[in-house]
Amino acid sequence: MKYHIEFDIDFRRNPYNGSFIALEGIDGSGKSTQAQLLKEALEKKNRKVVVKNPFEGEIGAFVRTILAGEKRVSAISLQYLISANRAAQQEEIIKDLKDGCDVIIDRYFWSAVAYAILDHPSIDKKDMKQWLLIGQSILSHYHQFLLPDMTFFLDISSRTATKRLDSMEKEKEIYEEESKIKKIEKIYEWLVGEFPKEFVTVNGEQPIEKVTQELLMHISSCKKN
Ligand code: ADP
Repeated sequence: MKYHIEFDIDFRRNPYNGSFIALEGIDGSGKSTQAQLLKEALEKKNRKVVVKNPFEGEIGAFVRTILAGEKRVSAISLQYLISANRAAQQEEIIKDLKDGCDVIIDRYFWSAVAYAILDHPSIDKKDMKQWLLIGQSILSHYHQFLLPDMTFFLDISSRTATKRLDSMEKEKEIYEEESKIKKIEKIYEWLVGEFPKEFVTVNGEQPIEKVTQELLMHISSCKKN
């Protein structure tokens, strides 16, 4: 049986004093590096800054075991776990913003959309209508979530990402294989094209300090900073 359902997904604007900044991009694009550098730079301007990492808390710890390949669950279960984790994290973010802290988050709901498309068992690589439907179903998990004041997309090629990840001394996660990075690169490209108003794209191939400068320039144009 099929039902036709149409609904709006609402996000809430950030009404608090703190700025809410999200960093998106493929693995190795520099999100965690930049989150730390932005924190230091904003603290020099006397802002209080909190960095939120993608998988904190109890559910997050479980998600990390899946990403590390130690535990296996279906793609859909992983998506729900990630959403549940973000729902718990959302309360902390709101508290920090209310306290006047700036919150920088490494990955937010756009990551969930990108990885859900990647993981969909029967996705047609060329059928963008299908991609959009999967995107909408994932975004519905984030109904009433706070929209960042700015979402940066750190744009790097999958080649650069693979080189950077290969030179890091850490075990690779399940999404850090070259073939998956190539697919996720295409999905982000599509997302940024499909929802252009939601992203500020920054060239992540530039030297680290140049990327930070560019991010700071955009952030300072945001009223609160
Ligand atoms: P992400 O959090 O997006 O996965 P990281 O911040 O962990 O990426 O960066 C991955 C690797 O790439 C790290 O070794 C980091 O030092 C390096 N790196 C980050 N940004 C740059 C850059 N702009 N140029 C060169 N190397 C970078």
